Amino acid sequence: MNEREGIASPKRTKDIIAKHNFSFKKSLGQNFLIDQNILNKIVDAADLDSGKGALEIGPGIGALTERLAMKAGEVAAVEIDRRLIPILKDVLGPYGNVTVREADVLKVDLKTLFEEVFVASSKVSVVANLPYYVTTPILMKLLEEKLPLENIVVMIQKEVAERMSASPGGKEYGSLSIAVQYYSEPELVCIVPRTVFIPQPNVESAVIRLKVREKPPVEVADEEHFFTLVQASFTQRRKTIANNLRSRYFPGEGRERLEALLQEAQVEPSRRAETLSMDEFARLSLVFLKAGLR
Ligand code: SAM
Repeated sequence: MNEREGIASPKRTKDIIAKHNFSFKKSLGQNFLIDQNILNKIVDAADLDSGKGALEIGPGIGALTERLAMKAGEVAAVEIDRRLIPILKDVLGPYGNVTVREADVLKVDLKTLFEEVFVASSKVSVVANLPYYVTTPILMKLLEEKLPLENIVVMIQKEVAERMSASPGGKEYGSLSIAVQYYSEPELVCIVPRTVFIPQPNVESAVIRLKVREKPPVEVADEEHFFTLVQASFTQRRKTIANNLRSRYFPGEGRERLEALLQEAQVEPSRRAETLSMDEFARLSLVFLKAGLR
């Protein structure tokens, strides 16, 4: 099948939708891709070959799935909407290397799915045009479960992509940037206009690639403690790090003990969380843990 005959054209998408009498569900974030160039960019960024596997979340009517089937050795696609399963079976019929699973990706056991599907793949990447209402929980699940992933290449809301890839010092930098960058190296692939979707979403989109790290860039003794401390630090962005940490760890106490701990971690108490590097948060977490503050 050549590219011109792919699913992701306005005409073929409309034909498939009409044939199956499909109606879009906004609540499931259903915005289907109808642009071959964007699909090429997504698939190229994933760096797939016949020895690798691809997991797609939310295949819709299979526009991206079809491309993945042509490029990767083994493909798994998890789709929540039961109405799409017969459509996917129909359009993906010609490809023998695709497993479609009807499930909510947030509930499915991905480790088992990986063992069942990716039998011959040396590496696996997630490649998806994500449903925007659950972008962050999906990405955090993929990263926290420490699946054997190489890349995560996803279309997401532009603003969320900017927050994930932000560096310290700007207003986009926050606990999401730190969580994502702890597990991966984010890279913005391209900005995507609304016009490449049916129906068009209300927000601008971006393709982001998260290169999954083999090990975190900072030393953390207790990940849960580290992420709790990071979140506490950003509770009120306008407040200083000292004030935010005091509310969480020393409610009603004076400043002395807290300031001594901040000093030990070499963090000025008057700074705001948005200026702290991941290294500095890791140091703070170690000092707080040592002092028995959980
Ligand atoms: N991949 C298709 C494309 O690019 O044209 C469709 C992308 S559309 C933005 C998102 C897809 O995710 C929809 O098919 C929707 O039904 C599915 N979806 C929504 N929530 C989901 C969930 N929790 N688990 C699995 N799939 C989900």
